[in-house]
Amino acid sequence: MAVNEDKQNFSHPIYQYLEKLPGVDVGLTLADQVLTWSQLNSLHLFPMATSCCGIEFMAAACSRFDVDQIGSIARGTPRQSDVMIIAGTITVKMAPRVKKLWDQMPEPKWAIAMGSCAISGDFYRDIYSVVPGVDTFMPVDVYVPGCPPNPEALLMGLRRLQEKIRKKRSGEWVEPELRPAPPGLRMPSLPRLGDPSRDPGLDQAQLDAVLNLDPGGMLRRSEGT
Ligand code: SF4
Repeated sequence: MAVNEDKQNFSHPIYQYLEKLPGVDVGLTLADQVLTWSQLNSLHLFPMATSCCGIEFMAAACSRFDVDQIGSIARGTPRQSDVMIIAGTITVKMAPRVKKLWDQMPEPKWAIAMGSCAISGDFYRDIYSVVPGVDTFMPVDVYVPGCPPNPEALLMGLRRLQEKIRKKRSGEWVEPELRPAPPGLRMPSLPRLGDPSRDPGLDQAQLDAVLNLDPGGMLRRSEGT
């Protein structure tokens, strides 16, 4: 089932036909609520676990905390997932792959940045090979700060995401979440995706990187260097 671009309502050819019939809108509203409820309570998680935060994700998925209690289940493929959880440090070389996996996820989809490394690069932000926050190359819906955030924090993040989806589907305004700014810590020099101060050249460079798997990668391969 497809969902329209602003992710507020389900859309389907049958649905659109029924919408035109007199008196059917009440039933469709109910159907919409049922579908929204079903989706909220069956989020399929795609763990992009690269380092220590990934261990906390595994703990969250195991019996003591158990993301299943809110209907979520981890999937091993982006094509069957709704929510990407980036748990760990993302390197510059890895970023195009992460973006590619994100692009392979069907709409509607959401992303959670779990832990300080995914949020801002944290200790490693000024290292040449580390991405200073995943929101510099893909959208992030929920930030779960911590080093590492514990499983309860992740569950809270999932709850926040469910609430955001519910509000958006019912047509309520949803305040975009801001990248947390820990006191005393210098923020990364790269502005997040969609920030007016961001250089559009960056977006193009990232797109090129995704298409070529790494900057100039295809060219280098074809040249045999
Ligand atoms: S935020 Fe902390 S626990 Fe998580 S990946 Fe970074 S260093 Fe490891």
